[in-house]
Amino acid sequence: MKEERVIAVNGLTKRYKKQFAVKEAGFAIKRGSICGLIGPNGAGKTTIMKMLGGLVLPTAGNISLYGGRSERELAKARERMSFMIEIPYAKLDLTAWQNLEKQRIQKGIPDKERPKKVMELVGLSDVGSKKLKEYSLGMKQRFGIANALLSKPEVMILDEPINGLDPGGIVEIREMLMKLNREEGITILISSHILSELALMCSEYLFIVRGEIIRHLTSEALKKECRSYLHVDTDNNNLAAAILREKLGIADMEAQKDGSLRLYEYLDNLAAVSRTLYENGVLPLGLSAGGDTLEQYYIAMTGGDTHVEHH
Ligand code: ATP
Repeated sequence: MKEERVIAVNGLTKRYKKQFAVKEAGFAIKRGSICGLIGPNGAGKTTIMKMLGGLVLPTAGNISLYGGRSERELAKARERMSFMIEIPYAKLDLTAWQNLEKQRIQKGIPDKERPKKVMELVGLSDVGSKKLKEYSLGMKQRFGIANALLSKPEVMILDEPINGLDPGGIVEIREMLMKLNREEGITILISSHILSELALMCSEYLFIVRGEIIRHLTSEALKKECRSYLHVDTDNNNLAAAILREKLGIADMEAQKDGSLRLYEYLDNLAAVSRTLYENGVLPLGLSAGGDTLEQYYIAMTGGDTHVEHH
């Protein structure tokens, strides 16, 4: 299938009075990706999603969905997408089945088996006749996703669908979304303020801080940036690399711009690295551990600006 940008925004801005909720955001999301929109509370994630869904009008900038930019094209494109942003659509006094049937009729979906299918997809087939208000948070989140799947969307925009879930619930929702992406080919934009919740799931990440997209990177790039390594600097780094390869069999290493080396192996055996270099005529000048965990990386990215609402 040809690579296609399903969502592209440029200079996208939303201002409330003097405050920018979103400031000149620019990014594109390709068909088939799972993109994580990551940022602290109040960073502008929901506002971006609402603008994509046509629920909030941008102050400036443009949105292109499936290549279309006019109001008509956007409205048509939005029919191929579904948005789970807050949950006002469901009636808490009804069962999931009753809610889905209502939605099915309202949306004019002819397939009567569809509610059953989406409940199976999210693992809620066995809920019986429980009312939504009796659901646990995890079940409610699943129901929200079932509801979003009703119209067979090609793209799902999910605002904090794993917020407040316990670790087991996070894993379940993550696996479910990955399955939908893999088996149904659904493109997903998902927001969270906790990077580690989205880790292992996304193919790319957008970092947003104070309304600005500060970083867009693939999961490989993120993994690389978050990998632990051993920093090695010597009086002859070229020779050092050859020695480490030959004597210790280290294959996973990278030379940095300043010539120093990063080893992704032997992290727990600094002594062996140091001794091997020394015994082979290379003088180690600096050996130290480096690298970030996901959380450290997130804090470095957002300047420690976690969970802060700023006005
Ligand atoms: P959270 O993780 O808390 O949901 P968020 O990243 O989704 O946060 P938004 O809800 O998009 O953030 O809000 C971004 C900023 O815009 C916040 O400072 C918020 O107070 C402000 N904001 C959002 N909606 C409005 C509104 N209708 N009127 C005024 N300010 C608003």
